Amino acid sequence: MDQCVTVERELEKVLQKFSGYGQLCERSLEELIQYAGGLRREILQSENQDGALSGTISLVMTQCCKRIKDTVQKLASDHKDIHSSVSRVGKAIDKNFDSDISSVGIDGCWQADSQRILNEVMVEHFFRQGMLDVAEELCQESGLSIDQSQKEPFVELNRILEALKVRVLRPALEWAVSNREMLMAQNSSLEFKLHRLYFISLLMGGTVNQREALQYAKNFQPFALNHQKDIQVLMGSLVYLRQGIENSPYVHLLDANQWADICDIFTRDACALLGLSVESPLSVSFSAGCVALPALINIKAVIEQRQCTGVWNQKDELPIEVDLGKKCWYHSIFACPILRQQTTDNNPPMKLVCGHIISRDALNKMFNGSKLKCPYCPMEQSPGDAKQIFF
Ligand SMILES: [Zn+2]
Repeated sequence: MDQCVTVERELEKVLQKFSGYGQLCERSLEELIQYAGGLRREILQSENQDGALSGTISLVMTQCCKRIKDTVQKLASDHKDIHSSVSRVGKAIDKNFDSDISSVGIDGCWQADSQRILNEVMVEHFFRQGMLDVAEELCQESGLSIDQSQKEPFVELNRILEALKVRVLRPALEWAVSNREMLMAQNSSLEFKLHRLYFISLLMGGTVNQREALQYAKNFQPFALNHQKDIQVLMGSLVYLRQGIENSPYVHLLDANQWADICDIFTRDACALLGLSVESPLSVSFSAGCVALPALINIKAVIEQRQCTGVWNQKDELPIEVDLGKKCWYHSIFACPILRQQTTDNNPPMKLVCGHIISRDALNKMFNGSKLKCPYCPMEQSPGDAKQIFF
C-alpha cells in the first residue's frame, strides 16, 4: 500500500503542474493573438501608403517577435520541468513495484488448447465492451472462428446501452417489451422502470404533454400489482404539472442518478436473461490475479530461499490460500471441521443422520467397523446413511 502512496504523490504533483501550466499557456497565447491582431491592423491601415514599412509597423513587429520568442522560451522551460516530473512518476513505479512477475508464471501454461481458450475469452470480453472491430481482428490473427450467433446478443446489448447512456429509452423499451414474459419470470422490474422514466420525461415537458402522459400511463397496467405505490406517486405528480415538477414535492422524480441505475439494471437483467455473468470473466480473473500476485511473489521467494522448490509444482493448485475479498465470493464454501480443509469435488461435504456435516475423507477415517460415532453428538450410525451435500 505504501508503494501506491508514493506513486500517487508523484502523480499528484504532475497533475497540479499540468493544471497550472494549462492556464499559463492559454494566457500567453491570448496575448500573442492580441499582438498579432494589432500588427494586422497596423498593416491594413498603411496598405495605401506604398513603399517601405512605416516606423510604427516595424516597431510593433519587433515587439511581436520578441514576445513570440519569450513565450516559446517560457513554454520550452515549462515543458522541461513537467517532463522531469513525469519521469519521476515512472521512476517511482520502477522503484516501488516489482516489474518482474515471471517468477510466478507457470511454464507452458499457454500452449495449444489453453491458448485457444484464452483467445476466446479475450474475444468475448471485447464483444462485451462493444469493441467489435478489435474482437474481429483478434479472431482473424489467431485463426479463431466465432459463430455469428455468439456475437449478436452483445451487439444488441451494447446498442441499447449506448442509447440509454444518452437517455434514449426507445430501444431498451422495445427489448424489454419483447422479452416481458422472461423478465417477469425472473422477477425483473426493468420494464416498469423504463416506462416510469419515459413517463417522467413526459412530465418534464409540462402541461403540453399532459394528454400524452395520461395516455402513456396505460403502460403501467401490467405492473399495477407489484408497483402500486410507485404508480400512485407518478399519478399524483400530474397535479403539479402546471407549476412544474421541479417546484413540487415530487422533485425527487427528476433525480439524475436513476439514469445510471437504469443502465445497471438493464445490464444485470439482460445478462441474466441471456445466461451471461454481469462482469466479463476476463476482467474478474485479471483483478483477482492483481490481488493475488503480491502474495504469490512473496511465497515464491520464500520457497526459493529455503530451497524447497519442489513444494509448488502442482499446476492447478496454489501453495497458499489467497483471500480475494468479499467482491470475489461467488458461492458458499464449506470447510470440514475435522480435517480443517475446504471441501472439494473429490472430498465433498457429507451430512450425517444426526444433521452434523463433515467431509467424506473425515468420515472414511472415522468409522470403526460398520459403525460411525458422530464427533459432535455421540450418535452412533451407519456410515452408509450419510448423504452428500451440494452448496
Ligand atoms: Zn451429530
